[in-house]
Amino acid sequence: MAELLGKERRTHYCGDLRESNIGEQVCVMGWVKKVRKLGSLVFVDLRDRSGIVQLAFDENSEEAVFNKALELKSEFVVSAKGTVRERSSKNPDIPTGNIEIFASEVRVLGESETPPFDIVDDCKTNEELRLTHRYLDLRRPILQNNIMFRAKVTKSVRDYLCDQGFIEIETPILIKSTPEGARDYLVPSRVHKGSFYALPQSPQLYKQLSMVAGFDKYFQIARCFRDEDLRADRQPEFTQIDMEMSFVDTDDVLAVGEGLIKHIFKDCMDVDIPTPLPRYTYRECMERFGSDKPDLRFGMEIINLTDALKGCSFPVFASAIEAGGSVRALNLKGYAEKLSRKDIDKLGEYAKGCGAKGLAWVKRADTDGGSFLKHMTDDEMNAIYKAADCEKGDILLILADSDNNKVLTQLGQLRVEAANRLGIERSGYNFLWVVEMPFFEYDYESGEWVAMHHPFTSPMDECIEYLDTDKGKVRAKAYDLVLNGIELSSGSIRITEPALQAKIFDLLGLSKEEAQVKFGYLLEAFRYGAPPHGGMGIGLDRLVMQMLGVSSLRDVVAYPKMQNAKELMTDCPAEVPASAIEELGISIVKEEK
Ligand code: ASP
Repeated sequence: MAELLGKERRTHYCGDLRESNIGEQVCVMGWVKKVRKLGSLVFVDLRDRSGIVQLAFDENSEEAVFNKALELKSEFVVSAKGTVRERSSKNPDIPTGNIEIFASEVRVLGESETPPFDIVDDCKTNEELRLTHRYLDLRRPILQNNIMFRAKVTKSVRDYLCDQGFIEIETPILIKSTPEGARDYLVPSRVHKGSFYALPQSPQLYKQLSMVAGFDKYFQIARCFRDEDLRADRQPEFTQIDMEMSFVDTDDVLAVGEGLIKHIFKDCMDVDIPTPLPRYTYRECMERFGSDKPDLRFGMEIINLTDALKGCSFPVFASAIEAGGSVRALNLKGYAEKLSRKDIDKLGEYAKGCGAKGLAWVKRADTDGGSFLKHMTDDEMNAIYKAADCEKGDILLILADSDNNKVLTQLGQLRVEAANRLGIERSGYNFLWVVEMPFFEYDYESGEWVAMHHPFTSPMDECIEYLDTDKGKVRAKAYDLVLNGIELSSGSIRITEPALQAKIFDLLGLSKEEAQVKFGYLLEAFRYGAPPHGGMGIGLDRLVMQMLGVSSLRDVVAYPKMQNAKELMTDCPAEVPASAIEELGISIVKEEK
């Protein structure tokens, strides 16, 4: 039976006690990690969020206290009073390893059944079972530390932005749809049957309206909801450090963004991030790294061989170039000997998986070898070697296609795969801004141009003339923040001119009527004095993941959902009583099994 807490109060967290506390009377409260019974000695490891401390019981203990210690089991919640003393056998592996508490009183505040898995960091139990009992999973020190670190980051964000004059404004969760390119989560209205709220994909329009309202600098640690098919690094709901500011241009927003990043890393990890962060245009990123979120922790940049190979004798290269495409390569410098034929074949298969027609390669050793040498003259090969700075010991991986962008993106993927396979050392935090993003993106599925960022983004001034004539040429005042190959943030300077906003809606295929119904309030607001403004949203979950060096969102989100969007602990989503559905004025069409 559990005892009452009584008048006793905790004096210390378990993990905080040190040699300096020796001789003190203390009271700790926590969970029993382990009980060791050694004849006339009993040791209990007591755990709370700060760490572990050893409780000791021996022949000098009162009999009732000693007997109580014998009854303790794993995960019992215990309050223990006693004197801190030096340990006879010290444990250098834990911060409290030099001391122990000689317990004079023990209370069981909560009993525990045998837990379904061990509460240890390297728990091998399958994730489903752990997520079903997430409150136990979260007791594991590693997750406790991750979640507490996340709280430290959010505090750091608040401190910095408040100091910079930003005002935290809570925007509503039940809203009219704000598009960010995903499907909305919808909430049926009981009062207005047949009408639905959407959960925010982001607070985008509210933060813009807050600028029209004159708040000047807004931020929010905002929950966003996107009903997408989930991938390993997605959750249906995620948190964004959302910001907006008035009277700014791109440079100003980037300065705030990088100031914030610098502050968080210093404050939470004592890591210095040199600023200003490097900036690359989108085009440059694609040309050099084949990606709009390049991992800059290693080089291996894409080399353009097109000029060197114009009219060459290998038909695959020549025809790609003739059709307006290109031939490009990666030079794996010094890896000629280390990469076996099998490795090359694997990379070839990978490239094909990315849509490449085939991988050409050439290795420079005592005698050169490669997949296409017999088709080429010595002069042509020398031209390649020169263009690619390919020397003895190097190996070139080459792709060709009539579609330039395909070659680039495929090589971009191959670049990362090759680095993974070669085990290229990647460490540190390599941030960059990607600026001058394309405004439109062609959606091959629907055959339509869609907004790459969102429709409230301003085109670059010099590109406005192409809006009607060449959408592919229109660049936006939009920027992404990338860290080690991960897109952490995106943002833009917004349109504030009602006529331009209306035109963009039109170009994105929204009729005047539709635009009015969906965003009439925004267009109207812009008619009443909209300051120039812009902002960004930084993915908090991903940021924390990168800072902690963990690979799963579930390591940094306290109560995450599974890949199938289910939350196992509460078993949600769940059916609701028919009466509740009826009240909402909707009916459910049961899926046939
Ligand atoms: N609303 C944008 C997003 O969620 C961020 C921004 O443009 O500020 O990606």
